[in-house]
Amino acid sequence: MQVERKILLNPGPSTTTDTVKMAQIVPDICPREKEFGQIMDDISHELVRIVHGKDEDYAAVLFCGSGTICIDVALNSLLDKDKKALVVQNGSYSERACEVLRAYGMPHVELKQPIDSPPDISVIEETLRQNEDIGYVYMTHHETGTGLLNPIREVGELAHKYGAYFITDTTSSYAMIPIDLYKDNIDFCMASAQKGIMGMTGLSYVIGRRDIIEKSKDFPVRSYYCNLYLQYHYFETTGQMHFTPPVQTIYAARQAISEYYEEGEEKKWERHQRVMAAIHKGEDEIGLKEALKREVQSGLVSAVRYPEDPNWDFDKIHDYCYERGFTIYPGKIEQKGTFRLCALGAIDDKDIEAFWVVFKEALGQYDVAVPIHYNA
Ligand SMILES: *Cc1c(COP(=O)(O)O)cnc(C)c1O
Repeated sequence: MQVERKILLNPGPSTTTDTVKMAQIVPDICPREKEFGQIMDDISHELVRIVHGKDEDYAAVLFCGSGTICIDVALNSLLDKDKKALVVQNGSYSERACEVLRAYGMPHVELKQPIDSPPDISVIEETLRQNEDIGYVYMTHHETGTGLLNPIREVGELAHKYGAYFITDTTSSYAMIPIDLYKDNIDFCMASAQKGIMGMTGLSYVIGRRDIIEKSKDFPVRSYYCNLYLQYHYFETTGQMHFTPPVQTIYAARQAISEYYEEGEEKKWERHQRVMAAIHKGEDEIGLKEALKREVQSGLVSAVRYPEDPNWDFDKIHDYCYERGFTIYPGKIEQKGTFRLCALGAIDDKDIEAFWVVFKEALGQYDVAVPIHYNA
């Protein structure tokens, strides 16, 4: 069976292969069966291996939910009493982390930094020096709203220098940009099956240091459903997720991980970069401008400024492209009109070339001037 192919240029869920889609079609099974527990156990080990972790040091803890569940879990579970969280806030996903901390009423320092350039490391260090009670430093690796890449290795090192754990949200970089837990100074990272591994929505995972998870047993429990230690401990002792897992999504994830290894870490990252090069080339050809300089971009998301043309209407252009199989996505930069073109998923440069043909047609259809017009 073949499924109509759609090119998703939104920042996840991403375009998947037919083999991953079809992997969900399996005989009904009760997820409490040993056979299913084995699949989850295998997947957990593979998820640690993707970021070069050793099983004795790191564990992947699975949750049924979208990526935000991992932000919630990591933040609420890993702060000891009398400690404060430090969030490097330079985009909509780190803003989300602050919202989670506020929702739990947890003490935290929100360190605001510009959203269009990497954070000032010396300011982070100064903040750590002034606040001796920081339990963990939290930073988004790739701020998907803008495409900004943050310096996790340096910030992780700083966190450790001041005796804090380092948690990073790698949801939109994991299994795309090569990550090494040890070299990148990561205690905890997280991701979701519909992004880097190119699986289905509904399965997310926190990957983190076993010794810290064990220690967190004595930290305040702030959530019943979203507690890292409880989920970890349940799986370690019973081989099952505490509550019903997303069964079919897990079959798809198994297939997706196997395709990840078939393609290979380096080859896959090269492909994503090839896709982004094709996105950038098309932008340059018609004069579309981006919100961020290319040298600070992740290589996975391009935030494009809306043309300053009286005929530009994002929804109309979106609909034109959508009807022809290409999905583009609004931006997430406050007060600034942007849309995003992303290099996630099972797509290649040829798909982007085909996209630009359709996008240019759309501009012509609605009389948007090419080269694109900007006032400044
Ligand atoms: C996609 C994403 C998430 C998760 O978002 P959901 O809508 O909950 O899936 C978290 N962090 C980052 C950086 C993301 O790109």
